[in-house]
Amino acid sequence: MLGANVWRKVLGVDRATVIESVEVDRESETVVAHVRPRRATKRRCGRCGRRAPGYDRGEGRRNWRTLDLGTLMCYLQADSARVNCPEHGPTVAQVPWARHGAGHTYAFDDTVAWLVTHTAKSTLVELMRIAWRTVGAIVDRVVADGRAAHDPFDGLRRIGIDEISYKKGHRYLLVVVDHDSGRLVWAAVGATKVNLRAFFDLVGDERAKLIKLVSADAAEWIADVVAERAENATLCIDGFHTVAWATAALDDVRREVWNEARRSGMTGYAKELKGARYALWKNPENLTEHQERRLNWIAAVNQKLYRAYLLKEQLREIINRKGRRALAMLDEWLTWAARCRIPAFVELGRKIRRNRAGIEAALRHDLSNALVESTNTKLRVLHRMAFGFKKPEHLIALALLDRGGYCPPLPGRSAPALAALG
Ligand SMILES: [Zn+2]
Repeated sequence: MLGANVWRKVLGVDRATVIESVEVDRESETVVAHVRPRRATKRRCGRCGRRAPGYDRGEGRRNWRTLDLGTLMCYLQADSARVNCPEHGPTVAQVPWARHGAGHTYAFDDTVAWLVTHTAKSTLVELMRIAWRTVGAIVDRVVADGRAAHDPFDGLRRIGIDEISYKKGHRYLLVVVDHDSGRLVWAAVGATKVNLRAFFDLVGDERAKLIKLVSADAAEWIADVVAERAENATLCIDGFHTVAWATAALDDVRREVWNEARRSGMTGYAKELKGARYALWKNPENLTEHQERRLNWIAAVNQKLYRAYLLKEQLREIINRKGRRALAMLDEWLTWAARCRIPAFVELGRKIRRNRAGIEAALRHDLSNALVESTNTKLRVLHRMAFGFKKPEHLIALALLDRGGYCPPLPGRSAPALAALG
């Protein structure tokens, strides 16, 4: 027979849990550990943790699923008495082995949360023998717990606000990232003024005053709310968005040239142009040899498209370079765009002039676009994974778990309080 200390380690519970006995239920082929909270931790409200007088026996004995023991499923079984909390009324008492309202232990929850950020959905549900919707509920409570322990709105100085379409252009998430920690701080369904104000409500006026820089796309409604709620912040336009505008303008030109070629019966030429799409989109340093040849071919056969490409590349170079030299280069670029006689880029030049203050602020303050860009990419991946969750709120919890630094360490292993982002 193993001693109580060994059993505690095996079951992943701490000294606040008393293990009374462990047995194998032959009928269900599961291991059941009979447990109770140690006296000192008894009779606390499950919601606030404050001591409270006993109320009733609640639902009596109940089970909490914990990590499998070898090949067998394992449960902790205990009474689920209720206390009468002065604030929350009759509430199931706190237990040291599980979160309030959870049907799984901390060890189980944390393992699932770790797996969801490290492995495929199908592997997780098979390995842990749970439904995907259960994973959603677990992620929600792990993140809520993490956010209760570390106020995510403390110490914000340089933030990025972005709207991300997570479902082919018609559903938007409003997200806030912290440029200093690299973390996703907050997200909501719906890119609206009301939601952005709700974010600033959570930050509070005192802390909002300490925010120095806000990067965003060029949306006016974001600028309005930032001016209203973060009075000391300079608004910068994310370089990521500026480059995206240029890429869209280049694509307009390519499509136009391609249509002209098709209409005039030059089908072979049109086909080549279509194939050149990726060569035009990619950064030159990432081009394959084949794509490089395509680009050289464009330079030889279509001056207009090639000039559009150079305009896009030059703008990208400016955005990435930053600093005073970049400001001077932006001036030159605007002159070039105004004279280029390519309507899409003349228009882009006008758009950049209209948003010049925000774009220049971004060049001066050296905010990394990479964070916003990678967050956007990752959220789209997570959205595919979150498919099957009923509510978009689960997508947000999943995003915060992964990008907000709330992924817990595996049970029994130590890790920093806030996990580093991979
Ligand atoms: Zn309470």
